[in-house]
Amino acid sequence: MNTVPMVIWSHCNECGRETKHDVVHKARRVRTYDYEQHSVDAGSTWTVIQCRGCEEVAMQRIEWCSEYDPQEGSDPATYFPPRISRRKPAWIDRHDVDDEYVELLNEVYVALHANSARLAMMGARALIDAVIRRSVGDQDNFGKGLDALVKKDLMSERDLEIVKAAIDAGHASAHRGHKPSSNDVNVVIDIVERMIHAEILAEQVKDLKKTTPQRMPRAAK
Ligand SMILES: [Zn+2]
Repeated sequence: MNTVPMVIWSHCNECGRETKHDVVHKARRVRTYDYEQHSVDAGSTWTVIQCRGCEEVAMQRIEWCSEYDPQEGSDPATYFPPRISRRKPAWIDRHDVDDEYVELLNEVYVALHANSARLAMMGARALIDAVIRRSVGDQDNFGKGLDALVKKDLMSERDLEIVKAAIDAGHASAHRGHKPSSNDVNVVIDIVERMIHAEILAEQVKDLKKTTPQRMPRAAK
């Protein structure tokens, strides 16, 4: 059996980059099958790893089979939780952000890390749909929804142009095999995050106004 390296380099979600990880535990699962008069071993290796910087713990699974060509290397590892390269904004933890936004954002971050730019762009569009529905109500179509956001000052004209260009390209790509770059997706997610943050801040201002009226008249005098 191979000697287990005690430290490996791996992407850390908390640190947002590759860091050194301690191998905390390793477990193997093996099954032997009979295949055309010889036996084949297949299984998976599970490794619990811990970041040496932030101490975040993750689990890595690598599937293997005795018949794999060693020249080709093993399958890419799967991680639990999935690895993400884009860091979620700090305000998400500070505020009570709606689950619909948080779940969609997490799925977009995972898709981006997995290089699934098309899926990430579809997720970005779903997020904008959610912003439209919550801020200006259901609209006939996506374009009208965006225009309604601009009319209510929830999106700038410049952001509108960027989102339209990126989403149109992404939409076309879904049908014509073209793939948006991860930079395109990141720009749209920047805009989406800004809109969600603005929505949360606006609600906080409302709450603040509700809780402070008694003190206002005295201060005004
Ligand atoms: Zn870390």
